[in-house]
Amino acid sequence: QHYLRRIETFDGQINSFITVTAGQALAQAAAADEKLARAEGGPLTGIPLAQKDIFCTQGVKTSCGSRMLDNFIAPYDATIVRKLHHEAGMVMLGKCNMDEFAMGSSNETSWYGPVKNPWDLTRVPGGSSGGSVAAVAAGLAPVATASDTGGSIRQPAALTNLTGIKPTYGRVSRYGMIAFASSLDQAGVVARSAEDAAYVLQAMSGFDPLDSTSVDRPVDDLVAGLNRPIRGLRIGLPKEYFAAGLAPEVRARVMAAVGVFEQLGAVISEISLPNAPLSVPTYYVVAPAEASSNLARYDGVRYGYRAQGVKTLEELYKRSRGEGFGPEVQRRIMIGTYVLSHGYYDAYYLKAQKVRKLICEDFRRAFEQVDLVLGPTTTDVAFKLGAKTDDPVAMYLNDIYTIAANLAGIPAMSLPCGFVDGLPVGLQLMGNYFDEARLLNAAHQYQ
Ligand code: GLN
Repeated sequence: QHYLRRIETFDGQINSFITVTAGQALAQAAAADEKLARAEGGPLTGIPLAQKDIFCTQGVKTSCGSRMLDNFIAPYDATIVRKLHHEAGMVMLGKCNMDEFAMGSSNETSWYGPVKNPWDLTRVPGGSSGGSVAAVAAGLAPVATASDTGGSIRQPAALTNLTGIKPTYGRVSRYGMIAFASSLDQAGVVARSAEDAAYVLQAMSGFDPLDSTSVDRPVDDLVAGLNRPIRGLRIGLPKEYFAAGLAPEVRARVMAAVGVFEQLGAVISEISLPNAPLSVPTYYVVAPAEASSNLARYDGVRYGYRAQGVKTLEELYKRSRGEGFGPEVQRRIMIGTYVLSHGYYDAYYLKAQKVRKLICEDFRRAFEQVDLVLGPTTTDVAFKLGAKTDDPVAMYLNDIYTIAANLAGIPAMSLPCGFVDGLPVGLQLMGNYFDEARLLNAAHQYQ
């Protein structure tokens, strides 16, 4: 009731929810109360949570921020929805606003309008999980799910003073998470602390036979080791992440945090990820290629938006997709079909896959020398609404520090490390495959 009241009072200004599921939330809360009264349930029983609107929720609209799915009521629950609500007993407050099909870095491509950053309502909250972070930052939910294809958990967490973690690719099931770029998409969580994030991520994780890319490996205990001292932890600072383009005030906050890690006993060294500067161009070939294929299913026939008054099948496809998808989604589909087309495939798509491999190799070498990699999450603090909407390339450069982790599939997180002129700054930690427990331990010790 506390959170539902806050949503009602404040979300008119912030726009972080697309759907509020008040009735369902109160019913789930009552069921949780009964469970707890019988001394059943676990640490998350009865804790409210907001779901990014990319996760299918049975009987509840799942729009993915798009007009294309504005009329879509999911007929089944995503695996993480089942795990969090049906198994862990969390209470769903509603579905959070997001960039359309998770394509964006500012939550301005949503069919439901932009989300405002609670720290400054004239600024963006980041994207694509802008609704999830704004809801948690404004105290409209204690924790929220999110997804990260190129930075969509970490960048918005950084811009709103939250802790957000994207686990290893394959750690969390993608079943029922609407696909953007399947080889990069991974679900995760945004929270007020690494400790909160650990509990929720633990409950989401695990092998799922319904997702062929889910990894069959036991889930580590992410909570038990949070209080372990980090003396001797080897942290590498990639020099490419501190090069030109990084705002000096952001660099100062990140370096101050490095000092704290040093005081905690971490051993800091400089490392190199030589191919990291190629991650943005590589991503903007691979991600649109996969998106163009994944989004082919929205044809106006099976489900989703259907244009009215059409005469031929071709007109049905053209108008349904032309009216149902917004401009950024259309741009990605055009880029994707172009790089996959005969005659261009070798020059773009195949080349990008080769560079992707080089980026993976950079991390493999780095993790022979260090346990964690540390750098800034973003080049600067939250920008003004509208500042980059006319310049896609400037918008794409937002993810310059986050994309490499998706291309390699390694876990990565952002945590708050101070403010510049009242606006939050985030630092990023990246770990080796399945090293979520170590990431969360380091973050918790810092916090
Ligand atoms: N901002 C990036 C993009 O627009 C990443 C989005 C994401 O991680 N979903 O594609």
